[in-house]
Amino acid sequence: MTEAWSKSAWRAKERIQMPDYPDRAALGAAEAQLAKYPPLVFAGEARALKRQLGEAAAGRAFLLQGGDCAESFAEFNADIIRDTFKVLLQMAVVLTYGAKVPVVKVGRMAGQFAKPRSAPTEAMGGVELPSYRGDIINGFDFTPEARVPDPQRMLQAYTQAAASLNLLRAFSKGGFADIHRVHSWTLGFTKSEDAERYKALSDRISDALDFMTAAGITSDTMGAMSTVDFYTSHEALLLEYEEALCRIDSTTGLPVAGSGHMIWIGDRTRQPDGAHVEFARGVQNPIGLKCGPSLSAEDLKVLLRKLNPENEAGRLTLIARFGAGKAGEHLPRLIRAVKEEGANVLWTCDPMHGNTVKSASGFKTRPFERVLQEVRDFFAVHKAEGTIPGGVHFEMTGKDVTECTGGLRAVTDEDLSSRYHTACDPRLNASQSLELAFLVSEELSQ
Ligand code: PEP
Ligand code: MN
Repeated sequence: MTEAWSKSAWRAKERIQMPDYPDRAALGAAEAQLAKYPPLVFAGEARALKRQLGEAAAGRAFLLQGGDCAESFAEFNADIIRDTFKVLLQMAVVLTYGAKVPVVKVGRMAGQFAKPRSAPTEAMGGVELPSYRGDIINGFDFTPEARVPDPQRMLQAYTQAAASLNLLRAFSKGGFADIHRVHSWTLGFTKSEDAERYKALSDRISDALDFMTAAGITSDTMGAMSTVDFYTSHEALLLEYEEALCRIDSTTGLPVAGSGHMIWIGDRTRQPDGAHVEFARGVQNPIGLKCGPSLSAEDLKVLLRKLNPENEAGRLTLIARFGAGKAGEHLPRLIRAVKEEGANVLWTCDPMHGNTVKSASGFKTRPFERVLQEVRDFFAVHKAEGTIPGGVHFEMTGKDVTECTGGLRAVTDEDLSSRYHTACDPRLNASQSLELAFLVSEELSQ
């Protein structure tokens, strides 16, 4: 028997990784305001994504999920959104070519604002302050005032997410993502071996398109090639925000998270009896679950039953994030737990979060070699277990940042300080993202 669900039932559970708002009246007012606003996404779109993820789980599609670790209020403009979107399109082309299946494109965008932290406070120069928890909660500046959780920030996050989605929808459907423009998605600064490989690939695609045009297939009859489906996702961490945007789907009469097409549960908040699992289990959207080294097979089994009691295809994506060299230890035991339950899941690989280290120069970074290694490990384990590696999940940006070390245009330890812009975790830059896409594409075409 599953317990009855309501969108506020999570409030009776332990509250972890969420702020304690000092001004309760202001919190109530912000929640009431948000609850009146339109949802950002619609139930039919979430259902379409779920169908496509079901295809990926069966090996007939492949999920590409990527974007910022944390979106920020300060770094918000059309160019940043366009460039991240361009890199995702380039990666998708490379993957489609290798995998020979449709690539399901999901951004960590238009809602990826709240961050779990490893410690409640952080210290600098002998001063200790509450940790920064993402722009939807408090400010990044290292001052006591900035670090106070402010519920008004939820309204600003909503507005930014709405504007981002508006642009993403325009890019997806308005001609920008037409496959005929495959050459135009490159970025000026990605002049590396990968950019050359990408150019060679786009030349082949253009040739094929020219042939199709000559054979009488026009843009009008090529509808599916002139637009893309692009979906949004984020970690559903700040449950006041999620609850306020939860809506009833008029088609099915069931609750749906209106904050993004797909939401996921983080590695720190996946307690089977916790608030985050409680909220996620009741909404109809596709749900992701981060699976780190501390996840036991027993807990995973409970979570499979709670989060997908009907064993629906595409409902649950398990996002493996163990660290390079550790998939062999953890992934097989979790794959077996899934098999024992007969559970229908989509397995994807997040090679970022298990590979964060502190560099000699003091920056939080991720060695690109380790990122690549975890992707290889992931594919090797699935091959050995006879299961399907159905997607990848990255932190990346279209900006030419120096946050992860390594890659063909080698970023060194000393380079990290030159363009280290992330508000949270280190992201792959455009070049590294493309290099990774080629590696995944090779793994997929083997
Ligand atoms: C994240 O995806 O930014 C994140 C915090 O991941 P995880 O929960 O896997 O640590
Ligand atoms: Mn992160």
